[in-house]
Parts: sequence; structure tokens; C-alpha cells
Amino acid sequence: MGKMKILKFGGTSVGTPQRMKNVAQLISTGEKCIVVLSAMAGTTNTLVEIADYFKKKNNEAANTVINGLRTKYMQHIRELYSTPEALGKTRDFLEDIFMYLHSFSNNEFTTACEKAILAQGEIISTNMMTNYLEELGIKVRLIPALDFMKLTENGEPDQHNIKKFLTDYLAKNADTEIYITQGFICKNSMGEVDNLQRGGSDYTACLIGAALRSEEIQIWTDIDGMHNNDPRFVDGTSPVRQLNFEEAAELAYFGAKILHPTCIQPARYAGVPVRLLNTMDPSAPGTLINNEMVHGRIKAVAAKDNITAIKIVSSRMLLATGFLRKVFEIFESYQTSIDMVATSEVGISLSIDNDSRLVPIVEELKKYGTVEVDKDMCIICVVGDLKWDNVGFETLATDALANIPVRMIAYGGSNHNISFLVRGIDKQSALQALSDKLFTSAQ
Ligand code: ADP
Ligand code: ASP
Ligand code: MG
Repeated sequence: MGKMKILKFGGTSVGTPQRMKNVAQLISTGEKCIVVLSAMAGTTNTLVEIADYFKKKNNEAANTVINGLRTKYMQHIRELYSTPEALGKTRDFLEDIFMYLHSFSNNEFTTACEKAILAQGEIISTNMMTNYLEELGIKVRLIPALDFMKLTENGEPDQHNIKKFLTDYLAKNADTEIYITQGFICKNSMGEVDNLQRGGSDYTACLIGAALRSEEIQIWTDIDGMHNNDPRFVDGTSPVRQLNFEEAAELAYFGAKILHPTCIQPARYAGVPVRLLNTMDPSAPGTLINNEMVHGRIKAVAAKDNITAIKIVSSRMLLATGFLRKVFEIFESYQTSIDMVATSEVGISLSIDNDSRLVPIVEELKKYGTVEVDKDMCIICVVGDLKWDNVGFETLATDALANIPVRMIAYGGSNHNISFLVRGIDKQSALQALSDKLFTSAQ
């Protein structure tokens, strides 16, 4: 079996029947591939809404939203298929799904129910695409993600079993041109339907690509690659043609929505290049993510919202041996991970993005000194060749933020980034100032 490419298409890329047809054309090149699909744009949000209504015991509202979704899909399939066979088959399939969604009215509503509802978007889109490709006469197989995308007890993907299942499956079903599977959805260690968090289809694609040591992982979306700043907040951003794995991982983790926060890791470990491509403009070059490192360049900026900063100041000799360990252990015991850290002789500041355990954490930290909390902060992450002996680059970034209050700075933790913690309300001006300074003049 030769090396295959993995192609992932996001919600907008399969967002209408016409877009699905375009994707079908893009993937039927005669070259074998594995295709990972998201739910059609908006569907996962609608499923979240349905689950919320069930959770609040508002069954009537849930059922109304389900009926609205059903009407939409019945329209979609009339536009997608031209033969009565494909249309009838898909209609029967959809009726079962919508009946299943309605059935939650009768159950006690648990987290497992919520996850089962959220999974339906990808199950629908992949069945629609498979039936469409079949209608076109293409040799296609749907590999159910729930058969192989499994989590271990730690909630991490079980890479060994993913690899084993897929390798066997592909060997047994070699007579196929296009393999389709669902992004985002998986089973947890208890065997329940679960997911890889919102935006997780990218992660599915990278896990498959890494498991099979594939030739390339392509993430097809609605923009021409990774831009040098967040196009939702900054004008005049432009695509970055190449990123090192580590640069891409930092950008994804620190808020570049185009990639799921942890999807680059498996690709990096396996050494499989990732290419970001635009479904709306398939011949545009996009962004290539690989092991190459371009020196002397700041590549891009990203921002992560809803950050809480915590400062612990003590009058005692704070940084005595073991102090940092005690502080970190408190966060660990509440399963709260820390993003940024800055220390001084008298204190330590750190940032977290999940403040659900903030109250008990602060209570325990108070044993060691005065604790100050700042909410609604934002991490601005500048990524590129930021090796410490490479002079001038950190100054450029700091200069750009001259007029913005900066709560913390982290530099030197890697060769690829410098992070600033600012108030959430200053995010847009900070991003714009960085773009103006870093990307419009000198480069
Ligand atoms: P998909 O549904 O295909 O997964 P997403 O909406 O998750 O697509 O990701 C693509 C979007 O990410 C873009 O439309 C853009 O608005 C947003 N985005 C945020 N930061 C960046 C960035 N640095 N470069 C490109 N896109 C970005
Ligand atoms: N459909 C899921 C979401 O909307 C997963 C994805 O699109 O990546 O979050
Ligand atoms: Mg996405």
C-alpha cells in the first residue's frame, strides 16, 4: 500500500450541497486518499442548542429546533442527488437520525446524551458525501470514526489502536479509491460517544496522518492558509507560505482558529507535513507546515481570550527552595494547566485559561502570600525565529505595544515565541499595532 494523503474539509467547505459537489470533484483525482469531514457549517452549533434545551428540560423547544434542522437537510438532499436511489437512501438514513434526536425527549439527560447529539453532524455529512460519491460511480467506503478513534483513560487519543485498526482496515479494503471518515467524534475509555473538542476535525486528520505516516495532511478551509494575524480582528493580513511545526503549534495553541489547538503535535512527531489550503480557491498555494525553519523572520501573531492572571506576592522569602513546586502542585491538584509564568524575588505571576477551579486554587495559594486575580485578559503570542541570540526581534514586538498596558511578558521558553498578557479590551489594538509594526514596513 503506497503512502496516501489525508484531506480534511471543514464546515464551510461542506456547508452547502454545491460545496459538497465541489469537494467531491476535488477529491476524485484518481489518487487514493482518506477524507475527513466536519459537519456542515452551523450544524454543530444547532446540535449544541438542541442539547441545551434538553438539558433544561425544554423538550418542546428542542423538538422545534430538530424539526427546523430536518427541513434544512431534506432540502439539501434534494439539491445534492440526481437519482431517486441515492435520494431515497439518504432520506431514510436522515429520518432515522432525526428520530434518534427526538428520542432524547424521553430519556434522563446526561453528558453522554449531549455528546451523542453533538456527534450527529459529522455522521450526517459523511453519509451524505459517501452516498453522493457512490452516485457518481466512485469506489468509496465510509470508515466509522467511532470504530477506531478512541481515547485512553487519560482522555488522550489511543494512537497505538488507531494505527492498528486503520492499517488492517486499509489492507482488507484495498479495492477502494476514496475512504471517508468523520472528524471530531470519538469514543472515550468507557465506550461512550465523545469528541475531540470544538474544531477537533483537524485533530482527527492529523492523528490519522500520523498513524499512517502519510505523505501529507491537507486541511482544506475557507481561507488561503495561515495568515500573519487574525483576519477577524485585523485588516490587511496576508498568508504565510511556510511555518515550522513548532511555530504552527504555538499559533494554534494561542488562538489561530484555523487550526485546532493540539492538532499539530501528532504530525510533528510523525514528521508528516501539513498543508493548509483554500476550498474556495484550490489552486492558491496556502501554507506548508514542516520541519524547515526560516531564520530571521517573525511569522505571525495570534491571540487567546478569556485568560485569568494570578499573582502571588509574599513578604517572606518567597522563592525559597520548593516554593514554585508547591504553587504548581496546587494548580496540578485542580487539573488546571498554566500557560504563562513570570517570577521575581518576591512573587510569581501566572496565567490560566480555565478558571472553573479558581476559587479553591486562590484559597490554597493564600497560604503563601497575597493573591491578586485579573480576569478577562488575553495572551498575544508573537511567533517566528525568536532565538535568544538573534538580536532585535523581541524589541520590535515590545515596541509595537508601547501604548498598551502589558501585565506579563514571557520570552525564552522556546525559540519560537514571545507572549504578552494584555487586557481583553486591548486585544484588537494590540494585534493591529503588531501587524503595523511587524508586517507592513520592514518585511
Ligand atoms: P473550518 O470550519 O474549515 O475548520 P475554521 O472556521 O475553524 O474553519 O477556521 C478558519 C477560520 O479561522 C478563518 O475563516 C479565519 O477567520 C480564522 N482565523 C483565525 N486566525 C487565523 C489565521 N491566523 N489565519 C487564517 N485564519 C484564521
Ligand atoms: N463540527 C465540529 C465543530 O463545529 C468539529 C469541526 O468542525 O472541526 O466544532
Ligand atoms: Mg476548524
